[in-house]
Amino acid sequence: MGHLTPFFRLAALLAGNNIKVTFITPSPTVSLAESQTLFRFFASFPEINQKQFHLLPLDKHPSNSEDPFYYHMERICQSSHLLSSLLSSLSPPLSALITDMSLASPAISITQALNLPNYVFFTSSAKMSTLFMSFHALIDSEATTDLDEIEAIKIPGLEAIPRSWIPPPLLQNTNNLLKTYFLENGKKMAESSGILVNTFESIEHEPLRKLNEGKVIEGLPPVIAIGPLAPCEFEKIQPLPWLDEQPAGSVVYVSFGSRTAMSREQLKELGEGLAISGHRFLWMVKDKKVDREDEEDLGQVIGSGLMEKLKEKGLVVKYWLNQEAILSHPAVGGFLSHCGWNSITEAIWNGVRILAWPQHGDQKINADIAEKIGLGTWEKSWGWGEETAVNGTDIAEKIKEMMGNELLRHQAMHIREEARTAVEIGGSSRMGPMELIETWKKT
Ligand code: UDP
Ligand code: UDP
Repeated sequence: MGHLTPFFRLAALLAGNNIKVTFITPSPTVSLAESQTLFRFFASFPEINQKQFHLLPLDKHPSNSEDPFYYHMERICQSSHLLSSLLSSLSPPLSALITDMSLASPAISITQALNLPNYVFFTSSAKMSTLFMSFHALIDSEATTDLDEIEAIKIPGLEAIPRSWIPPPLLQNTNNLLKTYFLENGKKMAESSGILVNTFESIEHEPLRKLNEGKVIEGLPPVIAIGPLAPCEFEKIQPLPWLDEQPAGSVVYVSFGSRTAMSREQLKELGEGLAISGHRFLWMVKDKKVDREDEEDLGQVIGSGLMEKLKEKGLVVKYWLNQEAILSHPAVGGFLSHCGWNSITEAIWNGVRILAWPQHGDQKINADIAEKIGLGTWEKSWGWGEETAVNGTDIAEKIKEMMGNELLRHQAMHIREEARTAVEIGGSSRMGPMELIETWKKT
């Protein structure tokens, strides 16, 4: 969902500017959230043409990863040769393809053979893109023989990224899917026609500048800020009767995105923490990475005793609700978030302050951005999600601090204004996409 959602919003932006959009979706999907949201997206944009890309079964399951979303990426990559005939068969012929960063390598090879411009959409932060695109150079460098010895990754022109913020699989000396995917796709990005990033100047000025000056890696195409992409109408339409009854700014929204399940032990501590904090809250519980497998009810997952206690002040749910409808609701005053990049851009879009609790992947790098721009606070001693269980009293303390922090609330509102200005006519994230649209209309 973290890749699909920004693609929906980009497609909507293009269609709204009279571009004929074909949206290629892999079939089957991993999660129910993906298939249901795809259905709603195409129902609300009948002008967008859907093409299903039927995936081949995997030759063999990669052995060093248990993540079903990674299997799926692998399956898309292994089927990617079939994309060529699909792209050539479209009528009218394509002016350009926009590819997800995780498919940069196979997709660019295909479009090079077809002589078709290929833009890569990087769905995380520009800062994360600097790591993504320069990682292969670090691995290739003669100085790097043992990844266990790396204390920080120095990205040319930018502040070094401390070891503890790097997605741990990247620092394993043995190969794994994430590392291979970083090396291959990150390197191939330089051969794309342009790199689109869901970010904006005032929060990521430095990485955007260094990328475009060729400091990070030489020979990159233009890196174009296009964010924050505005949410689609269909994401906002959702009844939220419990939230409607809560006072303005009083509710802490707690969610760790679409693919992060916490241990039962951590879920219980978090529940205790919410109860102790004394604040109202809306908590999205995930017990399994893939929603289709998340079958046990809340009583079984966090215990009926704790559930009773939680009902006094909060609402606990274990099904998909559109986050945009929640974050834009006036009752919501804070967000305990894993700092997936979409969650950060959505919090910015709605001016909601964050308590950052990164769990894996790019999330510490994103949490650092949230902290530096004044959107949120981050308790670094909590580490990665699976490292240690954080206890409820500590969680309650940090929630109270965030909800009591008026400066943070003001700053979040200020960043919201900057974000909206960036995408208005004349804004820094408006010019790039508009120029591309004009180019594509001419071809
Ligand atoms: N999301 C949602 N409802 C949920 C959980 C997530 O609508 O219960 C959306 C959220 O708004 C965001 C995306 O799913 O657009 C998750 O992306 P993010 O980058 O925040 O995290 P990821 O799921 O990739 O870890
Ligand atoms: N990533 C990706 N595609 C994948 C898995 C990971 O693009 O199938 C990227 C992800 O966006 C992030 C980094 O790899 O930049 C770390 O992966 P993580 O497991 O956190 O994935 P995410 O939850 O962000 O999809």
